[in-house]
Amino acid sequence: MKLHSNSLAPLNTRHSMAFVIVAAVIFCCCLVGIFSRPLSYLAIFWPANAVLLAIFLRFPKLSNLGGWLGAFTGYMLADLVTGNYFQLTLFLTFSNLTNSMVSLFFMRYFQVNYQNYNKGFTFLTMIVIIACGGCLAGALFAIFTVPYIPNTFMSTDRLSIDFGMWWITEILNALIILPLILSFPKLADLKLYFKDRRHQSFQINKIFPAIAVVFCVFLTAVSTGSGAILYPLAALIWAALTYRLFTLSLINAVVILATYYNLNAFYLHDSSLAYLSTAISVRIGLAMLILSPLILCIISRNRHELYKEVLYLANHDSLTHAMNRRYFFEQGELYLQNQIQLNFSIIMMDIDHFKKLNDQYGHYVGDQVLQEFSSVVRKNLRETDLFARIGGEEFSVLLTNIAATEAQGIAERIRKVVETTPIIIDEQNTIYITVSIGLIHQSLPNAPSLQSMINQADQALYQAKELGRNQVILVH
Ligand code: GH3
Ligand code: MG
Ligand code: MG
Repeated sequence: MKLHSNSLAPLNTRHSMAFVIVAAVIFCCCLVGIFSRPLSYLAIFWPANAVLLAIFLRFPKLSNLGGWLGAFTGYMLADLVTGNYFQLTLFLTFSNLTNSMVSLFFMRYFQVNYQNYNKGFTFLTMIVIIACGGCLAGALFAIFTVPYIPNTFMSTDRLSIDFGMWWITEILNALIILPLILSFPKLADLKLYFKDRRHQSFQINKIFPAIAVVFCVFLTAVSTGSGAILYPLAALIWAALTYRLFTLSLINAVVILATYYNLNAFYLHDSSLAYLSTAISVRIGLAMLILSPLILCIISRNRHELYKEVLYLANHDSLTHAMNRRYFFEQGELYLQNQIQLNFSIIMMDIDHFKKLNDQYGHYVGDQVLQEFSSVVRKNLRETDLFARIGGEEFSVLLTNIAATEAQGIAERIRKVVETTPIIIDEQNTIYITVSIGLIHQSLPNAPSLQSMINQADQALYQAKELGRNQVILVH
């Protein structure tokens, strides 16, 4: 009996946790939607359904019975506490739940993995599935039930308008919310981002696209008309080419809400029914307005990532991930040009008797040794030092901003660590290697060229080999 209750405990905890989290999130989202309703009619901003879908996609652990019951409770409570009566609330809740359920069903059926949202056509496929799946099913459920219950706000006289309004609003909300939640950075990425930020200076030109968007949205208020819906398009395209998807999604959300608010002021002069039919067209327009920059941003970020990857491959050795010879010279020269009065050192290293090792254990083991060696050296360097594989088993380091004694200490430490670090080849074989090192130290501005310093360090390395290997020789 005890065993039985123990084995159920984690399951219950998971369901209860999902229930509480989802209920709280949906309750809050519904309140946001309810308080933004114009004309006490369907809200332009009804985030709950898209949020539910997005959190079930991003956190599948919440997508269990507890989570679904939590969503049901959140929808029901929010409407009931704001004065809706039970029967209407129940049907609205089912309409809302239909959206996420059908969308999730089709996403799984077509095996669309949300994590690939930024690759190829995945995002577009997701949007098509959600628009023609969940959003359509939710809208159909609503118009076939809600107008037929007593004291309802939907009327049987204007079913097509109610249907169109519900459907497009769901799509619009999915376009606003989904990219926001799916591209919300993971904690580790956020930390990395802020770490990188500290090394970068503030670039004023990065805020220009955002300013342009604000200006164009402002224009929709001062010069309203049927063309105003397109005012923000060019600025949004600029933003899509500048920012990450998350930032663009935030901008999109603000643009939609502000532009819709401004356009409402223009269309509200007409009757309520005319407003409703125009609102459908405006909402379709707004959906198209933000869809284009979203796709452009995804394509642009993909290209950017691809470019970074290709650049990395062009500049680094694929086996050891150390810089290659060309990139080392390029970065070394750049460093020397940009310094006025600094101390630096160059270390040339060559693994001892590497050919023997290759002959004895094979090239594959030789490659493994090169990787291990690089990783050991890297651990003994600072982030600002340049480390390169110059050729075969020869490596070089440019130690930036360092005193001669400190540089000597580092070279000696590398030699010792390499000598004492076991390299495990397989269960039976562990090998040890040694390295010979030539070191030169210089103070700017009297330094000779990088190439001549490398030549001198190479001479010292040659001496180290002559003198019996596994030692550091300093150029005087
Ligand atoms: P010394 O102590 O004088 O430096 O002797 P050594 O055997 O280390 O030097 P030598 O220059 O005679 O041999 C270097 C060897 O490195 C020859 C070459 O086959 C091997 N080598 C070069 N590039 C690679 C590589 O990418 N992988 C492997 N496994 N071996 C490589
Ligand atoms: Mg060698
Ligand atoms: Mg060699």
